[in-house]
Amino acid sequence: MNEVFLSYLWKYRLLHRELFTESGDPLTILHPGEQNSDGGPDFFNARLRIGDTTWAGNVEIHLRSSDWFRHGHQHDRAYDNPILHAVYEADVPVCDGNGVPFQTLVMRDRFPETVYDRYQGMMANHQWIPCYNQLLTISDHGFNLWAPALAVERLVYKAFNIRQLWEICRNDWEEAFYQHLASSFGFKINSLPFELLAKSLPLKIIRRHLDQPFQLEALFFGQSGLLNRDLSDDYPRSMLHEYRFLKEKYRLRPVPQATWKFLRLRPVNFPTLRISQWAHFIAGSHAGFFNLLENGSYADIIRSLSTCASPYWDTHYMFDKSTAFRKKNIGRDSVNLLVINGIVPFLFYYGMEKEDPLIRERAMSFLEQTEGEFNADIGRWAGLGLPTHHALQTQALLHLKRFYCDRRRCLDCRIGAALLSGPPH
Ligand code: SF4
Repeated sequence: MNEVFLSYLWKYRLLHRELFTESGDPLTILHPGEQNSDGGPDFFNARLRIGDTTWAGNVEIHLRSSDWFRHGHQHDRAYDNPILHAVYEADVPVCDGNGVPFQTLVMRDRFPETVYDRYQGMMANHQWIPCYNQLLTISDHGFNLWAPALAVERLVYKAFNIRQLWEICRNDWEEAFYQHLASSFGFKINSLPFELLAKSLPLKIIRRHLDQPFQLEALFFGQSGLLNRDLSDDYPRSMLHEYRFLKEKYRLRPVPQATWKFLRLRPVNFPTLRISQWAHFIAGSHAGFFNLLENGSYADIIRSLSTCASPYWDTHYMFDKSTAFRKKNIGRDSVNLLVINGIVPFLFYYGMEKEDPLIRERAMSFLEQTEGEFNADIGRWAGLGLPTHHALQTQALLHLKRFYCDRRRCLDCRIGAALLSGPPH
């Protein structure tokens, strides 16, 4: 037994209906109160009826009543006068400063044993997720109702890094979005070099070359360090020529070439193609991409992101190595990832800073309109009876796995609640 499980029983009113305090008075839980995860009592503003009297106040929960002293609550004013001390076992009497015993509820044997047995079974399970054996046994797990709240939790979590970036950019929304979106173009494996690339080429320089796509591409490739080698094809050689002039003009320092990763990537995902696509996206947006974020429709955003690399890359994946012709458009799966990881988190954070719920709702609606990513974890959830239809659900599941299942927080999970307190399975 542990306090977390006792708090769970209290919060979800899973105790027997007929309860009595240690002094023999009937106890009714009118409202269990608000759970407190900071210092102070476990539940604030609970409402109870004890005997004929209705009480409102704090409830403290312990495994043993002696934990009151072990935790030093007798010296802490935050714990003054709880309306109830709910314990698994009352091993010593506990009184207030005037020597009056607290009202105490002993929870032992006052809850359904099946709930605890199921909880123990889950905590002892070391399969992919703790409820792996039970999930398929219930149909009404409530995930779809919970998914939007989980997706919001994930976006709030991501907002922390975006906020840091925004502050580093001196609260310049456009510069911060430019850098954030650049790192999304790196698609995880090359997100850091893309971020460094954008940082090394601030928007104020980019804006001066928007009407010259070739110069833009030369700037991005030159700053990537990838032109820093012997080159024989005309296209990269002319970019290098152009870049050398601009490098001197702006006193630029390129990103180390070694930061780019090609290993284990499919050629269509090589950073060479992504840099060219990024340059085309920037040139095509005329630096109005923040306006696109603020005001563009979902279709506008998809259209703008569905860009392609320069014609040179139709027959190349690397400089100087020609291949069969193939247009190097950004594929639909990649566009979806740019929406999921680039557009939506930034838009949501923007809505948080502006305290505008409509902006945040727009971000959520973009997630609902986007096809979810597919990976091994999403496949496993589908096998356990949680198929997904859009990115809001896949993002919710990724968050659930990482922040609930992997941390064994089944008592904080709505699926866990359905499994623990549901009918026999
Ligand atoms: S956190 Fe929820 S979904 Fe994850 S294992 Fe526990 S009960 Fe299952």
